[in-house]
Amino acid sequence: MTRAGFVTEAIAAKVREQFGTPCYVYDRAGLEAAARTALAFPAPYGFTLRYAMKANPSLGILRLFRDLGLHIDASSDYEVERALRAGFEPARIQLTSQMPSRRLAEHVSRGVLFNACSLHQLEQYGKTAPGGSVSVRVNAGLGSGGINRTNTGGPASSFGIWHEHLDEALAIAKRHHVAIDRLHTHIGSGSDPEVWKRVARMTLDIAARMPDVTIMNMGGGYKVARMDGEQATDLTADVGEHVRQELIAFREREGRALAMEIEPGTYLVANNGAVVATIIDVVDTGADGYRFAKLDTGMTEVTRPSLYGAQHPITVMTARDQREQVVFTGPCCESGDILTPAPGDPEALAPRLVTAPQIGDLVVVGGAGAYCAAMSTINYNSYPQAPEAMLERDGSLTLLRRRQSLEQVWQNEVV
Ligand SMILES: *Cc1c(COP(=O)(O)O)cnc(C)c1O
Repeated sequence: MTRAGFVTEAIAAKVREQFGTPCYVYDRAGLEAAARTALAFPAPYGFTLRYAMKANPSLGILRLFRDLGLHIDASSDYEVERALRAGFEPARIQLTSQMPSRRLAEHVSRGVLFNACSLHQLEQYGKTAPGGSVSVRVNAGLGSGGINRTNTGGPASSFGIWHEHLDEALAIAKRHHVAIDRLHTHIGSGSDPEVWKRVARMTLDIAARMPDVTIMNMGGGYKVARMDGEQATDLTADVGEHVRQELIAFREREGRALAMEIEPGTYLVANNGAVVATIIDVVDTGADGYRFAKLDTGMTEVTRPSLYGAQHPITVMTARDQREQVVFTGPCCESGDILTPAPGDPEALAPRLVTAPQIGDLVVVGGAGAYCAAMSTINYNSYPQAPEAMLERDGSLTLLRRRQSLEQVWQNEVV
């Protein structure tokens, strides 16, 4: 029986039968297990787990994490609304946004937490909520992402207040009688754990200069292994244990016990989601060319390969002895709609040795729980947004979101 992560041949067939393809499917058991592992982060003086909801803001997933006691990292005013709608208490939601909030007064009055990501945002908070308390996001000077595009620290990143401007931040806070009681860093997605640990120490050195700080938030970025042979970050025994010792040492040095927060997105959802798709055509470009299997999914559901050469496992779900080198493409009239680019190079093709595909075969694209449904080129070529389903513990499927209708594609057009 062919299997792709949590998706067996039987489950893939059931998804296609019930909802058609392409369809996202998520694994309740896996999502809960990942959340429980992260909740065991060994912070010595208190711990909060925030789900970075931009990774996958589907209501079914938000509710699942809400019921497990997770808090929320929201990336925009709109995500704050989505988290409230999913039933998160305002005090469990923190806004960390590149876009200065347009609804800050409303957030403050409801008790939604705010993380100022620039001096301008801090000034805005001070004017809106003098005497309040706020978090600041700092760029400690060092970043790390799986690829440059996902690096959010260091001089080439616009995220956060540059560490050399800390005195200015403190002056703004003082002028508005605002307490900066939380310090935040997030250095990238898919970060090197050794760089992450160095940034933990740099962040604590910054915290030493900020007497009101009681919470250190180190963001997300914990690597998962989507492909065989990739190295996942050990969140608790490696990163967590390191931070635990740093926080104990900080308390000995500075006499302050800091609580810890982290904000994983990828870690919680990436490998607990997949896209079930169908092979719609198989073509080749001759003896010196390539063999292409065209899927009914591509950049419209899984944009990461086209965007930055990200690698996702792809499994042909039919047992067949013959294997061959195949390039998987999506259904768009767009040469960049490739699911198997070279790692980190979206412009190069990297054929994969897989079960020889035939038209009509079921295919599973794995590692598709994070930044896939949430970040896609939906409606390109007017393909409707794909549905999302949850695989329950008893093997049944719950529809989380219906497939978009054609009317919904054009519903806002007025002329
Ligand atoms: C995106 C983001 C995260 C989550 O990053 P992952 O790589 O998905 O873990 C956490 N915190 C902030 C501020 C973010 O922008």
